[in-house]
Amino acid sequence: MHQRKKMTDYVVLLKEKGLKATFQRMNILEVIEKQGHMSVDDIYEEVMKVHPSLSLATIYKNIILMQENGILVEVPIAGKKSKYELAKADHLHLICTECGEVEDKMCLEKTDAVFHQLTEEEHFKLNRRQVNLYGICEACQAKIVS
Ligand SMILES: [Zn+2]
Ligand SMILES: [Zn+2]
Repeated sequence: MHQRKKMTDYVVLLKEKGLKATFQRMNILEVIEKQGHMSVDDIYEEVMKVHPSLSLATIYKNIILMQENGILVEVPIAGKKSKYELAKADHLHLICTECGEVEDKMCLEKTDAVFHQLTEEEHFKLNRRQVNLYGICEACQAKIVS
């Protein structure tokens, strides 16, 4: 059975976080949600197709604002420009340092237990976490060998 992924209601999301639901912001969110993780340059390139008059500075400002309001999350890529994703349930990232591809991994029961144990030992109250594992993806490994 083919099931279409339900997209987030950006108007509700933006308003919940106290931001005006402008077309630019909704377009940025839509582009990011489709791709998963994107750099500012990639977002700019996509958004330009719909809003050709938007400047990179404006898009960047909106991304930072939405990050500050907890709608977007920055994912640092070692040696490359950061990517951004929609804030979602805590998950792990497998990040390829060759091509910059970011894969989400949701299996967190085991890792959650480790984090809670570690932080409890330090009497540290854990709120948020982002776990980034850097390495080389399967496709890039194949390229390196050949
Ligand atoms: Zn790769
Ligand atoms: Zn992610």
